[in-house]
Amino acid sequence: MGFKLSERILVMPKSSKSSPLIVLTGPSTEMSEYEGSHIIPFAAGFSKPWFMPRFFLKKTFFKPVPSNSLEVQVAPLGLRRLEANLVKSGFRPEDIAVVHPDDLLRAVGPDTKVIGVSSKDPLGLGYVSLTYSSVLDLGEPINKLEFKRLMKDAKQAKQKHGAKIIVGGPGSWQLTRPEAKDLYDVDFIFIGEGDVSGPEIFWKLTRGEAVPKVVEGKQAGVSDISPIIRPTIYGAVEISRGCGRGCAFCSPTMLRRKIIPAEAIAREVELNVSCGQRDVLLVTEDIFMYGGKSSDFVPNSNAVRALFNSLTTVKGVESIQVTHANLAAISADKTLAGQVAETLNEKSKYSLQGKHVATVEVGIETGSPRLLKKHMAGKCKPFKPDEWPSIVLSSLSFMEDKDWVALATILVGLPGETDEDTELTIKLIENLRGMGLRTFLVPLIFVPLGTCSLREAASKSFNDLSEKQVDVFALAWEQNIKVWGPDFFKSPAYTSYWAKLGFKVATSLLYNLKYKRSDRWRKAIADRTMEALKQVV
Ligand code: SF4
Repeated sequence: MGFKLSERILVMPKSSKSSPLIVLTGPSTEMSEYEGSHIIPFAAGFSKPWFMPRFFLKKTFFKPVPSNSLEVQVAPLGLRRLEANLVKSGFRPEDIAVVHPDDLLRAVGPDTKVIGVSSKDPLGLGYVSLTYSSVLDLGEPINKLEFKRLMKDAKQAKQKHGAKIIVGGPGSWQLTRPEAKDLYDVDFIFIGEGDVSGPEIFWKLTRGEAVPKVVEGKQAGVSDISPIIRPTIYGAVEISRGCGRGCAFCSPTMLRRKIIPAEAIAREVELNVSCGQRDVLLVTEDIFMYGGKSSDFVPNSNAVRALFNSLTTVKGVESIQVTHANLAAISADKTLAGQVAETLNEKSKYSLQGKHVATVEVGIETGSPRLLKKHMAGKCKPFKPDEWPSIVLSSLSFMEDKDWVALATILVGLPGETDEDTELTIKLIENLRGMGLRTFLVPLIFVPLGTCSLREAASKSFNDLSEKQVDVFALAWEQNIKVWGPDFFKSPAYTSYWAKLGFKVATSLLYNLKYKRSDRWRKAIADRTMEALKQVV
């Protein structure tokens, strides 16, 4: 669905001829709505095939959000939040320009003091990038290349106009890694929440005052979070921040849990709608934690219902999508889960196998209660770790009955994972397939993110994985291709004879010339994937 350009209220160009004091931007891969798809952006973490030119990817994959003059009409929620916090702190809206990175050199001028860059995965060290650039082995992840490109322009703008460069966002910790030292011309790295410390730092930078190289943002309270003043990509609005279930591999759980009041959320949705953005993306670690107070994570059904009631009455909203849900919470209150699924299904824009479906990201992570207890004992609350495999299956099949299909992550190679643990994960996937569930599985290799409590753990590579661990990847992709492949290959891009032929030739060449002769683990995944593809293309 995405944006209807003609319906947008355009962001007015700056009246003054001077350049903005602050220019905010992010990599191209974060400045796109991917034609309204919430699933395709994951592919920004995949290798960029060397034979695919950037202009082709920019035209067909990370198509830029529209801009009016220089400023983007919709921006990532993180940049919009920073913009609102800066304005609340006293900057004038016209002091700040949020631009597409390809327009950075035009936007920065002699009056610009700060170039603020937000990135989720600047060095390609996130879960999806590390996993799938290793599997595909076709080059560096696209998001890393786009960050590199942006930093090249930022450096040029800095040299010409003397602005300072500060990088923040969820992936900024990556720039503190030893391998990032001297890689880019970054003056300051901002880690953590920007609501309180962000404006403090930007004021210091615009006044030329001293700021430490690495800044840790103070944790914000709900009242510190300023409402957005301009529209967001996907119509994203934050409904909660942080989690509290305490999974050791996860970053959001390190933040104090905050619930945004329903009225404030509705106002942000209204703002988006008034600017022509008719989609809503509810950003949360778990839709069912909304308004929750119980230490056992039993959902607060009244709060969740009230939230949806207030959103569905906003005139002009065409679609509502939720980022994440917790599988244990679904089993804890199936009446509530059923109602949420119904609303999301009515407001969804996806279909699968001829049926209208809603989608959401969930975490399975493991089929092993032992591993769950070790690294993520809170994930299954209010149930016990031993109940986890049956909770996963029960919640997923309940969701299927309501045409709410899960995109589920599975972590492979967590510290201390044994083959016995992996066997239990494999058994869980086989059960899920046996039940005919349409769950899209996203197996990921464990990455010690710099902002999680397992940050000191050793990184794994595919060469370190056992045969069983590799099997998880092969099994999961067989399931995905079988269930999602037929619809994918019916999409407009693949309906022509030539497109199908092109795909077949490219995959067969890659398989025969590269993957067939590749490492044991890559060949094992490629063999099974190719077999599954033959059935659907
Ligand atoms: S449940 Fe999800 S968001 Fe919460 S701590 Fe665990 S992985 Fe993180």
